[in-house]
Amino acid sequence: MLSKEIQLEVNKGAMLPLMEEFYTIQGEGFHTGTAAYFIRIGGCDVGCHWCDVKESWNAELHPPTGIDLIVENASKYSETVVITGGEPLMWDMNLLTQKLKVNNRRVHIETSGAYPLTGTWDWICLSPKKNKLPTDTVYDNAHELKVIIYNKHDFIFAEEQAEKVNSNAILFLQPEWSKKEEMTPLIVDYVMNNPKWRVSLQTHKYLNIP
Ligand code: SF4
Repeated sequence: MLSKEIQLEVNKGAMLPLMEEFYTIQGEGFHTGTAAYFIRIGGCDVGCHWCDVKESWNAELHPPTGIDLIVENASKYSETVVITGGEPLMWDMNLLTQKLKVNNRRVHIETSGAYPLTGTWDWICLSPKKNKLPTDTVYDNAHELKVIIYNKHDFIFAEEQAEKVNSNAILFLQPEWSKKEEMTPLIVDYVMNNPKWRVSLQTHKYLNIP
């Protein structure tokens, strides 16, 4: 149970439940292969059964951390900072992104879009989930739509999501890691037949990096 003072700081986004932060290579989507500092914020209520960061779900397990410290750490490493989770849009991202921008960082987000958009972003990667569909603000502002393919029905979901996202968004299909042997060949065929889509792979997992 957080003290009232800390809860107030969390409510306005001046403190956030920090799960981990690390400098690595972006493995997925449009910016694959580029160095970035990842900030993983705890808390997610979307509940994907195949989620590979279930330990992020309970925000109370992750210490409320002042954003000045988060920004100071991030600014030592990389021009590009990726805010991920969990679901970072459960929290108010305005103050964190403002401070990162003041420090001349490029600020990206990986989000399911399940909450309204807050923050100022250079790149929004929307990875929609059936359990809790994205809000209009994220559909309207996403730069990239990345749909995870766990089974064949997900191709239909992907097309539904492509209809909803803004027309400038770049479209990716990515095999869920545990299903990659089965789904990757289907994705390859699908993209060759539907070239508005691109293939995304979790290359950081092939590289054995976080
Ligand atoms: Fe996990 Fe992301 Fe799904 Fe949340 S939205 S359950 S963090 S995969």
